[in-house]
Amino acid sequence: MIKFGPSGSCELFAMQGYTRTVQEAKWLADMGLDCFEYSFGRGVRITEKTAREIGEEFKKYNIEFSVHAPYFINLATLEEDKANNNHEYIFSSLKALREFGGKRCVFHPGSPLKAAREDAMNVLMKRLDLVMQLKHDLGYDDLWLCAETMGKKSQLGDLDEVIRMCKNYDTLLPCIDFGHLNARDCGIIKGYDDYKMIIDKLADGLGDFKTKNMHVHFSKIQYTDKGELRHLTFEDEKYGPDYEPLMRVISDYKLEPYIACESAGTQTLDALKMKNYYKSL
Ligand SMILES: [Zn+2]
Repeated sequence: MIKFGPSGSCELFAMQGYTRTVQEAKWLADMGLDCFEYSFGRGVRITEKTAREIGEEFKKYNIEFSVHAPYFINLATLEEDKANNNHEYIFSSLKALREFGGKRCVFHPGSPLKAAREDAMNVLMKRLDLVMQLKHDLGYDDLWLCAETMGKKSQLGDLDEVIRMCKNYDTLLPCIDFGHLNARDCGIIKGYDDYKMIIDKLADGLGDFKTKNMHVHFSKIQYTDKGELRHLTFEDEKYGPDYEPLMRVISDYKLEPYIACESAGTQTLDALKMKNYYKSL
């Protein structure tokens, strides 16, 4: 089933005096939303006890829980000790994800740094292969990793690269961040046909199941000629992309993604706008 919800706690949640993630479950359920993404941005720092308490509450209110692995992951790194850090970030995220009772862990694939892009992609594919092997060996076949499309031109993770990453592994899903795709190509998404082209390409490359069940990040994002600059809210009328045509494509194609809204501060209200629009179709 398609799900809508925020990434992280929004301004309204804080304004109403809430401070703890565990309180999000009932709050989001009362708002009529379905999912929540928890970010480990700077590292996985949560005790098993707290994660399980949060997980219980989200289960009670039937709110799907996903996590975002730390931003430091770079599978294209040439340094072996940094590659080991990647494993620490990914597998501590998966461990916590299981304690939360969630199913999906999003990660940023990496950056070439000083290497040529194609060389960096080859390193990344090799390191990804080891990650997926370890994921199996460590007993995480029941959880999904989601490789995200990235917003800066310099980062690995354009649509083709994410398709290449996800192709060979049963438990690797694409996380299509439409704001990122729009920002990295300086406003490429203008309407229905542009969204349709992305979805068609995804279905071509990864098949119907992974397309139907993809993970989605959505926000409007300000960009420069190098790509992503900062996340905006749905109030923005300059940078886009607009959510309405995406909702129409998702509805027409009967897709069932989990959509995490990443608007700056208004992510819960904007997630609700998307859900209400989708339901009106
Ligand atoms: Zn991300």
